[in-house]
Amino acid sequence: MSKPVCYSTKAYSTTSPSSPLGATTIERRQPTPTDVQIQIIYCGVCHSDLHFARNEWNFTQYPAVPGHEIVGKVTAVGTDVKKFKVGDTVGVGCLVDSCRTCPNCQSGFEQYCDAGMSGGTYGGTEKWLGTPTLGGYSQSIVVTEDFVLRIPANLDLAAAAPLLCAGITTYSPMRHWKVGPGKKVGIVGLGGLGHMGVKFAKAFGAQVVLFTTSPSKVADGKRLGAHEVVISTDEKQMAAHAGSFDFILDAVSAQHDINAYLNLLKLDGNLTLVGAPDKPLPVAAFPLIMRRRSFSGSLIGGLPETQEMLDFCGQHNITCDIEMIRMDEINGAYERMLKSDVKYRFVSDMATLQAESGKREA
Ligand code: NAP
Ligand code: ZN
Ligand code: ZN
Repeated sequence: MSKPVCYSTKAYSTTSPSSPLGATTIERRQPTPTDVQIQIIYCGVCHSDLHFARNEWNFTQYPAVPGHEIVGKVTAVGTDVKKFKVGDTVGVGCLVDSCRTCPNCQSGFEQYCDAGMSGGTYGGTEKWLGTPTLGGYSQSIVVTEDFVLRIPANLDLAAAAPLLCAGITTYSPMRHWKVGPGKKVGIVGLGGLGHMGVKFAKAFGAQVVLFTTSPSKVADGKRLGAHEVVISTDEKQMAAHAGSFDFILDAVSAQHDINAYLNLLKLDGNLTLVGAPDKPLPVAAFPLIMRRRSFSGSLIGGLPETQEMLDFCGQHNITCDIEMIRMDEINGAYERMLKSDVKYRFVSDMATLQAESGKREA
């Protein structure tokens, strides 16, 4: 495999766990025959970007460019590309490749590839260049066509961007655990993931209860589709739901008591964790064994299911509630995200990167 020629594109990167992000220039490979080159128009801001930028998961290589909720227009295609043409509106999520041969990849579960997250949009390995992959806080990206997704034309493009991570991460486990009519479903945490969890659980026909630590989010929780909102710090409100849920999706980004939610599950109920705090969450034995409850995790979704989710959103007109930011507002956006002060996903307008000098600010 000979190394392809590269081109330069503007990006926002960070150089250490404690540095702010700043403007820079990065190298991308020129499209190979199976590649699609995309002008990035919008990129969502996931809490994983913050965990990664600050090396909270201990695998970040610097300089690091976060961003895996990418939407834009195709600007070039390789000679063998069949599914896309110049001008198409497309998306890229958390994966830009996988081994493609292990049983999980063969089954369309590329997120559970036996090679791990080496195909991650950031923090993976750029298999042509042998360098760390660099994410969507940039003006342009080159991705093999099998990992590029179609965005339904009726969806607002900026509000569709977070579907590529927040959308699929909540859609996939709810499909797996058969959330639907007659099921009582809890969503924990009204952030980027949580607000999509509420929208999907409602769209699937379940009875939806939102758990939040923020009393200021009660009205929004109901507007987004929750039938009831519980302030999770209020023990009385929590106790009223003991032993009653079929399924709970936990989308919290920080330390919290998981056992309080296990206690709310009924017989054979399941609590699925999608939040990825850096520290372990202690699980007590009794909340699990008392009603044959189960506790599991879920990671984003594979390519076929991500396209299915996007098409479902197109059919049901589901998008994310977003706050648009300029790329140079990203450091402030991270601070607000840490205060649970996002309504309900920041999306960066990549046209604002054009104006940047290309020199690191800090
Ligand atoms: P986010 O927008 O920051 O939302 C997190 C929410 O969790 C907050 O809005 C807040 O909701 C709640 N929260 C925050 N700190 C809390 C605390 N100390 N105690 C209790 N609740 C707290 O984050 P996000 O982008 O949705 O991501 C959530 C988590 O999922 C992150 O850890 C992220 O890395 C992870 N993630 C995992 C996957 C996957 O594939 N499994 C994919 C994407 C993201 P309230 O104000 O309502 O309490
Ligand atoms: Zn994400
Ligand atoms: Zn694989």
